[in-house]
Order: sequence, then C-alpha cells, then structure tokens
Amino acid sequence: MKPSPRSLVRSCFLDGGYVFAEKAEDIAAKYGFSEVARLASNENPSPPSDAAQAAAAEAILSCNRYPGTTHEELIEKLQEIYGSYPVVAGAGMDGVIETVVRALVTYGDSVVVSSPTFSFYGLAVTAQGGMVEYVPRGASYAVDPQSFIAAAWDAKLSFICSPNNPTGTVSPPEDIAYILENINGILFLDNAYVEFSDVDYLPLLGRYENLIIGRTMSKVYGLAGFRVGYAFVPEWFRPCYLRAETPFALNAVSEAAAVGALSDPAYADRYIAHVTRWRRRFSEEIPYPVAPGGANFVMIDLDPLTGREAMDALAKKGVLVRSCESFPGLGESFIRVSIGADWECERFLSAIVSL
Ligand SMILES: *Cc1c(COP(=O)(O)O)cnc(C)c1O
Repeated sequence: MKPSPRSLVRSCFLDGGYVFAEKAEDIAAKYGFSEVARLASNENPSPPSDAAQAAAAEAILSCNRYPGTTHEELIEKLQEIYGSYPVVAGAGMDGVIETVVRALVTYGDSVVVSSPTFSFYGLAVTAQGGMVEYVPRGASYAVDPQSFIAAAWDAKLSFICSPNNPTGTVSPPEDIAYILENINGILFLDNAYVEFSDVDYLPLLGRYENLIIGRTMSKVYGLAGFRVGYAFVPEWFRPCYLRAETPFALNAVSEAAAVGALSDPAYADRYIAHVTRWRRRFSEEIPYPVAPGGANFVMIDLDPLTGREAMDALAKKGVLVRSCESFPGLGESFIRVSIGADWECERFLSAIVSL
C-alpha cells in the first residue's frame, strides 16, 4: 500500500504550533454580550491613525505594481526617528524573526531562548530544523546573565525578549551589554513593547556587532492587521538578511501605512500615556499579585485558580484575556491582560475584583 502523503510532513508541522487568542465574537455569542473587552492579544484598542489610513488608501491605487524591493521610504523614516542604524523590514516582526532564523540556522543547530517567553522563536527555529534550548529566567523573571551566557556563548543565535512577553520584565541595558560581550553568536533582542518602557537599547547597536533589535508597528502604532515589523541589524548582516528574505515580503499598502503612522507620533504618545496610567491603576487595584512590567499588558497570578479557569470566569463577564498555561516554564495560575480602551479596563477591573 502507498504510504499516506501525511507521512511526508515533518512531525513539527503535524501538531502543536502557535496558540491564538479565542475569538471575541465566539465569546460574545456564547455569553450574550454585544461587545467583549478584547484584552488577550496586546493590541492597540484604537483604529490606526488618520495619517496611516490615508497613506494606505492612497497606496492601494498603485497596487497593480509590485512594491519597491528595498522598503526605502520606511527605512528612511525609521532612521530619521531612531538614528542611522541599518534597518530591515518584513511582514510583522514575526516575518523578520523567520528571515533571521532562515539566514542563520541550519539542521541540528542549537538556538538558545530565555524562557518563559513568546513562543514564535521556538516555532521558527524548529521549522528550520534547529533545536531550541530554553534557559529559565531567575527570581522575579529577570534574565540571569551568567546562566544565559553559560548556555548561549557558543550558539549561533539566541533570543531575549524585553519587555518580556508574558511577564512584562524589563532587562537592564547593562545586562544585555554584558551578555553581548560574552557570547560569540548573535543575540536577537525582541523589543515589541519597548516603547511602553523607560529603557532604550539603541545605543548598544553602535557598540556591538552581534546585536539585532526587533521592533513592530503592531502594538504602539496600532497596525497589527497590516503586519509590519522591522529590525536594526549590524551593517555586515544586512546583505545576508536580504539574501534570505522572501521577495516583496512587505506589501506596498502596509509599508505606506507604516510611514504614515510614523509621521504622527502624537498618536503613539497618547496611547503610551494611556497605558502608563492604566498599568498603575491595575497594579494598585487588582487584588492579586501583578508582576511589575514595562509593556502594554500585565501578568497576574491568580493562584489557586488556573489561568484557564480564570480566563473562563472572566469570559462569562464579557472580558477576554490570555491564559498563560501555554507558556512553558511558567506556573499554571497566570493570566496576561492587555491594557485596552477605558471601558474595557473598567469592565476587567470590576470582573477581577468579584472573581
Ligand atoms: C506581538 C509580538 C511580536 C510580533 O509582532 P508582529 O510584528 O505583529 O509580528 C513579536 N514579539 C513579541 C514578544 C510580541 O509580543
């Protein structure tokens, strides 16, 4: 008998994979709410800025043409704002991570990931045939530079997320510098939430040849649906990245939206102020331990409830949050709650107080 074509597929593509948030519409229908507070995916609760919308609408008119291949407009705008570091851009930071992994990882390579954290690093590495070594964070979810270096010093590639998803933990730039000095490979520092914190890792780029800083337009600029991410990379690595990337990875409408969004910094500033205000209220008013963090979400320990139980109980009150049970290396009793619009945060606070 012929073997099933299913047997052709590598086991890492047959089960497991990225865990998506529950659908807000499903929760709304199940529990009879006209609108659910969507606090599970760390999205900006406001529509994209007017400048982003207008630029995207304009770009649609030229979509019979392929986009520019070098994303010059976006890159120039980013360099104007953040400094003249080499930049690459892709379909979300996820797309950038995938390309970095493709450029560096071959079958059997070991890649080190500071954990618990965002799952996609591991998924991208496994898909490329690499192996993942998770290094547990230390007390209060801080990265312990010594144990990280002990595991990562000879790895081609390693990952640290700061502020970390889902714990919110911010790593001091001195610790990152110390790690960069003591590893031979490349460190991918995921800064998806850095705009909500008070740290700045960009000065490290001028000092180290083995640092990549990944950033995204999905969170602070409210463009999650457009899928725009970018990374500051060492000069020597940029041609390698470009060689490994999918042609036309970033579509013309998304690129235009990103340039438009970056030209309206007041939009991001308003959201950052909103997040800072609510993060303080959350840490003061939630009657459970809240991990201190620098992101647009907080992680809460609901022990003795499991994350799943807490998530279900909150869903019944019209609030969608993320259970952290799928993050390996974290206990079972955690949820992650994004800072949404005022009404969403208010509804969450009343729900958690009466849980
Ligand atoms: C949201 C997120 C990303 C991915 O962002 P996209 O640009 O939407 O792909 C990357 N890293 C972390 C830690 C995130 O939370």
